[in-house]
Amino acid sequence: MPHILAVANQKGGVGKTTTSVNLAAGLAGAGKRVLLVDLDPQGNATMGSGIDKRNLESSVYQVLLGLTTMQSVRQKSESGGYDLVPANRELAGAEVEMVDLENRETRLKSALGTIAAEYDFILLDCPPALNLLTLNGLVAAETVMIPMQCEYYALEGLSDLVETIRKVRKHLNPRLEIEGLVRTMYDPRNSLTQQVSAQLQQHFGDKLYATIIPRNVRLAEAPSYGAPAVSLDKVCKGSQAYMALADELLSRSAIALALEKQA
Ligand code: ATP
Ligand code: MG
Repeated sequence: MPHILAVANQKGGVGKTTTSVNLAAGLAGAGKRVLLVDLDPQGNATMGSGIDKRNLESSVYQVLLGLTTMQSVRQKSESGGYDLVPANRELAGAEVEMVDLENRETRLKSALGTIAAEYDFILLDCPPALNLLTLNGLVAAETVMIPMQCEYYALEGLSDLVETIRKVRKHLNPRLEIEGLVRTMYDPRNSLTQQVSAQLQQHFGDKLYATIIPRNVRLAEAPSYGAPAVSLDKVCKGSQAYMALADELLSRSAIALALEKQA
């Protein structure tokens, strides 16, 4: 079965989508079968994977409402080397329309059921809110990867997210765990960055990924070419960091699996 990983942080603009597309491309580059699900009405992961959100016949929106299947909406991201379930602004309506539906929190999980076995990794790019879409992501996932910028307010929002994860674990998805925190857009010249980074280390210990994603202009430019930076320019610092993150994720998964077998 695949490892299903939600990339989440209710804070906007912290690098969730950049992490999702580049990690997906990095894992695909390492020979893994990867599916990326865009759970954000902004459709940034869709565009960043080279698929035009304005010309979708159907998207994750119809899947969540039970109008179609994952199989029929997934597309191949040629530039990324993975499969993508796209989203666009239509998805904003799902938030309201799902409220009255049965099993509104488990719709994504059920929809993934049938195709999950075709993949080694399924990444869920969550929107910047602790809403029903993110909740669907947290219920479907086994682990949560939390990208964050090392700034003061980042820590404040983090406790809300950790609390939400705790509630989801209690009520909806007992196996949910924090995969790890990833420091993004890192600028070592900034002393606050270093302070916050040290605090994270103290609080989260080995849940903090050793790999740090630097601020890198190639990562920011890549979406305008409809491709993950990891596919466009393998040697830039940003791509190197995301490939290292993919490696770190793979080695952590291997260790976790070995421990599970031992237990
Ligand atoms: P949202 O909450 O709106 O979904 P997000 O958390 O998905 O945002 P991104 O879209 O990945 O964040 O990143 C926000 C902006 O910062 C984008 O313009 C992106 O290109 C840029 N960016 C992300 N990571 C980096 C980086 N390491 N270096 C430079 N720019 C970056
Ligand atoms: Mg995003």
